[in-house]
Amino acid sequence: MATPEAAAIIPAAGKARRFGSGSNKIWSHVAGRTVLEWTLSAFDAHPAIASIVVVAGEDDAERIERVCAGKSKVVAVAEGGDSRAASVRNGLAKVPPSTNVVLVHDAARPLVTSELISRIIDCASRFGASIPGVAAPDTFKRVGSDGFVRITIPRSAEVGGTVCSGLTSVQTPQGARLELLQHAYACVDLSRTDVTDESFLLELAGIPVYVAQGDPDNIKITHAEDIGIADQLLSRRTDREPAASRETRTGFGYDVHTFATPDAGRPLFLGGVEIPHDRGLDGHSDADALLHAACDALLGAASLGDIGILFPNTDPAYRNIASIRLLEAVTLRVREAGWQIVNVDATVLAEAPKLMPHRERMQAAIARALQIEPSRVSIKATTSEGMGFVGRGEGIACWAVATLVSQ
Ligand code: MG
Repeated sequence: MATPEAAAIIPAAGKARRFGSGSNKIWSHVAGRTVLEWTLSAFDAHPAIASIVVVAGEDDAERIERVCAGKSKVVAVAEGGDSRAASVRNGLAKVPPSTNVVLVHDAARPLVTSELISRIIDCASRFGASIPGVAAPDTFKRVGSDGFVRITIPRSAEVGGTVCSGLTSVQTPQGARLELLQHAYACVDLSRTDVTDESFLLELAGIPVYVAQGDPDNIKITHAEDIGIADQLLSRRTDREPAASRETRTGFGYDVHTFATPDAGRPLFLGGVEIPHDRGLDGHSDADALLHAACDALLGAASLGDIGILFPNTDPAYRNIASIRLLEAVTLRVREAGWQIVNVDATVLAEAPKLMPHRERMQAAIARALQIEPSRVSIKATTSEGMGFVGRGEGIACWAVATLVSQ
């Protein structure tokens, strides 16, 4: 059988990003490139892929266009829709009519291999439609919002007279012959909210879907921790130089805020979390001195100015803003400038309250904003032994250092 002509649709429409909080993970850096670049390159380099259509959300469209300009097989950047199904339908409309097989692949799965792409093209061509699946070793339960188990999903069940044993976790790329996918999109109501993948659309249209062997490493970047895992796997795969031989920079940050009076009713924010105390810190934002010091350390290491330049306290947009949003925006800028964050270490100087009971929560909040593991965030606290403005309980001072390594 002749090799079929295949097209890839890559839905990359993320959520709106206020202050560039980086919620669209396709812009995170792993092993020296963005997640989107890794994903696009896998399809661009595959000999059976003739064309690629990327689906972009409004917020990211310009940047996605720029990235796609460097990829020879990208034939169109389609507009994102209200749902994943609507986005893919917009992409499907741009696929060249000469296409035999269409693969739909999550932009946030940068670890897709050439072997897996080949396998899905082959199986979709032979069986009409095919998706990669991995047998799930875990037991699955439905848990209520109160945290208690409601039901256990049975591992085996009789479906249509056939006993199905085990549960299968499915991935992308999901493939189908062009005319079958077009048929599925034409006959299913796309406003249905339960359509979470292309396979389900095909199933609803009565088209059999063959499950081919998936790849356990083909993870979807969903949580901050996934970036570290993808970075390790891709670095190993590309024989990338260890971080130690790349350029390293260190930055330093300092910040101080005075306490507001107790009757001002300001909550105390430090390290991105609210800490019970009879007074909060005074400032234009939430006055989180620890996060401000961390922002300045990161900006200092990357030579990107300081927090006062980026987010002026004369701008009403930043009035009472949660400083964790500023740290997320700083993280995005630092990454866009080509730096990977290695660690942040901070010291808080405060007479009260006691901060150690809140240290883990602060570490977790900062690590989430920086998209690194909590073990790379260190927070220490000390008092001023009654001396000076901190000693008199007038305010809190923070120091932070950050280390970056070139991507
Ligand atoms: Mg400040």
